[in-house]
Amino acid sequence: MNKLLETQQLKKYFPTTGFFSTKKALVHAVDGVSLSINKGETLGLVGESGSGKTTIGRLVLRLIEPTEGAVFFSGVNLMSLNGKALRKLRQRTGIVFQDPQASLNPRMTIEETLSRPLLIHKSLSATKGRRELMLSVLERVGLESEHLGRYPHEFSGGQQQRISIARAIILNPEFIVLDEPTSALDVSVQAKVLNLLTALRKEFDLTYLFISHDLTVIQYMCDMVAVMYLGEIIELATTEELFEDMKHPYTKALLSAAPVPDPKKRGRERIFLVGEIPSSTNPPAGCRFHPRCPQKIGKICEQEHPESIEVGTKHAVACHLYQQ
Ligand code: SF4
Repeated sequence: MNKLLETQQLKKYFPTTGFFSTKKALVHAVDGVSLSINKGETLGLVGESGSGKTTIGRLVLRLIEPTEGAVFFSGVNLMSLNGKALRKLRQRTGIVFQDPQASLNPRMTIEETLSRPLLIHKSLSATKGRRELMLSVLERVGLESEHLGRYPHEFSGGQQQRISIARAIILNPEFIVLDEPTSALDVSVQAKVLNLLTALRKEFDLTYLFISHDLTVIQYMCDMVAVMYLGEIIELATTEELFEDMKHPYTKALLSAAPVPDPKKRGRERIFLVGEIPSSTNPPAGCRFHPRCPQKIGKICEQEHPESIEVGTKHAVACHLYQQ
């Protein structure tokens, strides 16, 4: 399979100051992430809030600059591009944000919102061609031509997210970052938006990076899953393998807390994690999960950082339990 996107040892540290001190500290939002996505596949990025998922979504589109590391898109290092070349490559990508209301400009009609990417990338300069394209994309996401002249507040949350999706696909991209695209929506419309995204992926041969805190949604949408904890990937596997035989104690705890729609599969033992996710300004030494891990095996977990190792075909895990 062709690799469309690859990150190599990607890091992003944000400088911060505390409430009671002017001393600068660094938030280790993303700390050495290497992953790849094959063309036509969906990679799910899952973890609690604050684990670094959203930062990765922005780094891979170079919406923010990394502290270290590289992102390759179709073999081209994004960090080596500037100006026109970067804009040209960005044309092949898109993003859908979590909160559709916040991501749409309230003062712009849907027509203005959809025509913006076409104008920025100087695609279809003829007004007639632009309008036809906007109408066909709007129709494809389940909206109607009369909606073009309306403003975002005139739509429901689900419709607003459909508009965001229309904006993301209007330049006919190859790759889209979907950052929690359904978590701000009512449960009743979530499935419809997920089904729309699945259909668009097949129809336009799209590749997705699907960011979510919800393992049930990840299982439904993704081919591969990367589990994040405090800026690192701690488990990476095919979706099938991960849900059949998850290895990392954190992944097991995450799944045990997920709601189970099938009543026959209920009764799974709930794993309660002690404490909150630690601060990413000063991540714990050794394994970053050790202060909360129910399977901690001693000093090695507190002192040595576990490297990611293969434990099967297309399954890697960073945990000392598998390195003995
Ligand atoms: Fe738990 Fe140790 Fe594995 Fe970390 S390395 S997840 S602390 S067993």
